[in-house]
Amino acid sequence: MRQSTMLLNTLRDVPADAEAASHQLMLRAGLIKPLASGVYTFLPLGIRALRKLEGIVREEMNRAGAQEMLMPAMQPAELWEQSGRWDVYGPELMRLTDRGGRAFALGPTHEEVITSLLASEVTSYKQLPVTVYQIQTKYRDERRPRFGVLRSREFVMKDGYSFDRDQEGLDRNYQAMYNAYHTILNRCALNFRAVEADSGAIGGTGTHEFMVLADIGEDTIAYCPQCDYAANVEKAEAAGNRAAAQGDAQLNGMTADVRADADSVVNLDMTMVSTPGMKTVEEVSRYLEVAPSQIAKTIACRADGQIVLALVRGDHQLNEIKLKNLLGAEVIELLDEAGVRQELGSVPGFLGPSGLKQTFPLFVDQSLRNAASLVIGANQEDAHYLHARLGRDIAAEEFYDLRMVQPGDGCPRCAEALQFTKGIEVGHVFKLGTKYSEQLNATYVDENGREQLMIMGCYGIGVSRLLAAIIEQHHDERGIAWPVVVAPFHVHLLQLNAKDEQQSAVAEELYTALMKKGVEVLWDDRKERAGVKFNDADLLGMPIRITVGKRAGERVVECTIRKSGETAEVLVDQLENWVQKVIGLGG
Ligand code: ATP
Ligand code: MG
Repeated sequence: MRQSTMLLNTLRDVPADAEAASHQLMLRAGLIKPLASGVYTFLPLGIRALRKLEGIVREEMNRAGAQEMLMPAMQPAELWEQSGRWDVYGPELMRLTDRGGRAFALGPTHEEVITSLLASEVTSYKQLPVTVYQIQTKYRDERRPRFGVLRSREFVMKDGYSFDRDQEGLDRNYQAMYNAYHTILNRCALNFRAVEADSGAIGGTGTHEFMVLADIGEDTIAYCPQCDYAANVEKAEAAGNRAAAQGDAQLNGMTADVRADADSVVNLDMTMVSTPGMKTVEEVSRYLEVAPSQIAKTIACRADGQIVLALVRGDHQLNEIKLKNLLGAEVIELLDEAGVRQELGSVPGFLGPSGLKQTFPLFVDQSLRNAASLVIGANQEDAHYLHARLGRDIAAEEFYDLRMVQPGDGCPRCAEALQFTKGIEVGHVFKLGTKYSEQLNATYVDENGREQLMIMGCYGIGVSRLLAAIIEQHHDERGIAWPVVVAPFHVHLLQLNAKDEQQSAVAEELYTALMKKGVEVLWDDRKERAGVKFNDADLLGMPIRITVGKRAGERVVECTIRKSGETAEVLVDQLENWVQKVIGLGG
C-alpha cells in the first residue's frame, strides 16, 4: 500500500480525553475514529489489525471444533422476555421498536438467539454435542464507556456456545475452549492470567476470566506466587479462620499479650460511649484507641428489595458480590444515608447490629467468628458500644465469607501471601448449565427416548478490546510496537526523499519483490520531511522499518526492528531473507 494514497492521518498531540495509552495511540495512529461516545469507526489501518486478530481467533475456534455462524444483531423482545432478561438486563440493553411497534433489542450477547435456534434444530442425542461461534458486533449501553475500544458501546465480540448431553461433555468442551483461549492469547504475545471469576446468581460450576495484565485494567486480580491460585477479587476467597487469625495478629501488630488482655475483657458488659462526630473506622479507632480489627462495621444493603445487614471487621471491606450470591439475589445495592435513617431508624456513621427498632437479617463475616469483644455503632448520633459480643449482644449463629481479600491475606489454597495486580478482562468462559435451555425449552431425546435439557457453556472474547489490550502491552513512549501476527503491515518502507529517482527505483523494486513473497508493505512515498516519516513509523509501529536513503545508489538500505531498535545496513539483494527471518513467514 502506498501511504500517499491511504486514508490515514496521524496526530502529533495526545487527544485530551484519552487516558489509556492504547486509546491515545489508536487515535494518534489513525486506527480508529470516534463517532459518538463509545462508538468508533475502524479506519483502514485499524481494520487490518482487527481482521488479523479475528483470523487468529477464528483459526483457534475452528481447530477446537467450533463451527462458525453469524446471528442477527436485531433480536425480538419476546426471546428476552422468555429468558427473563428483558427486565433484568436493565439500561445496558439497547432497545428499539420497528414500524409495526414490535420491540427489539440490539444483541449485547446471544444466549437467547442461539438457544432458541438449537431448540428447534436439535431433537436427538445423536446431534449433540455442538459448539458454534460467531464474530459479530455487540451493543451495550455502558454506563461509562471509556478507554476507547476497551469499553465501548458497540464492539466486536467472538461469542461461542456449546451444547452437550451431560456435565462431562460440558466439562470437556469448557476445557477445549479454555485451552483455545490460552493459545490465542499466547499467539498475541500477551502476558495474561486465567482467573477464577464470579458466576453470579446463575451459580454454575465454573467460570474463568482471561485477564491481560495492565495497570489501566478495571479488574483486580488476587494471585498466589506459590501455587496456581488466581481469582478476580470479586470472587477471591478469604482464607479460612486459622489462616485469617494468624493474618489478623500480623495486621494489627498485636502481640500474644495484647490478645490475652483482649480475652480478659470478654465478660464486660456492652457499654455505650460517646464518639462525637466519629463516623469512620479510622476516626473511631483513633478516638477510642482500639485497633480497626476490633471494630465491627455494619453495612446495610437492599437485595432484591429486601433490607439485609452485613457485619465485617473494621479493617475489611464487604464484598457485595459475595453477599449477593449468598442471598441468591439478582440485584444488590448499598442503602444510602436517607435509607439508613428512614428504613432502619438509625444514624449514618453510627449504624450497628444491636438495638434496631426492627430485626433485619444479619450476615456476619467469618473473620469475626473468634472476636472477643467488639466496638459497634449504637444507632444514635455520636455513640458507639464497647465490649459487644457475638451471640450475646449481636445475634450471630452462622458465619460466611463476605469480605474482599486484601494485601496481607493468605492464599486460600496454600496460605502463602496473596499478591494483587490489575487486569483487562479480554475473555470469559462460563459453564451455564441449563439456565437458558430450561427457559427456552432446548431439549433433546436421549437414547432411552426421554426428553432431556441441553447442558450449555458460553465463551466470549472481546476482539476489539483485545486489540487495545495488545497495544497496552506492546508500546513505548514513541508509539505502538505491534507483534508481527496482528501488525497492520509487516514492513514500513520509508523512502526518505520522494523526488530522488534512485531511491524511487530501489523502493519500488523492494515493494514489488516483498509483496510477491507475501510480505505486507506500507510504502511511505509521501512528500514529507524525513523526520516526519521516522516519527510516523515509530508511532504506527510496524515490526520492521526499511529506510531507503542516501546509500540507495549502492543498493544498501537500513533495516530497523521496531521493538528492539536493532538496526542493520543490508544489501537490497539480501533483504528478503532478512525480512522473512524477522517476521517468520518462512520460505
Ligand atoms: P466487563 O466486566 O468488562 O463489563 P462483561 O463481564 O460484561 O465485561 P462478558 O459479558 O463476559 O463481559 O462479555 C465477553 C467479553 O466481551 C468480555 O470478556 C470482554 O472482553 C468483552 N466486552 C464486554 N463488554 C465490552 C465493552 N463494553 N467493550 C468492549 N468489549 C467488551
Ligand atoms: Mg459488562
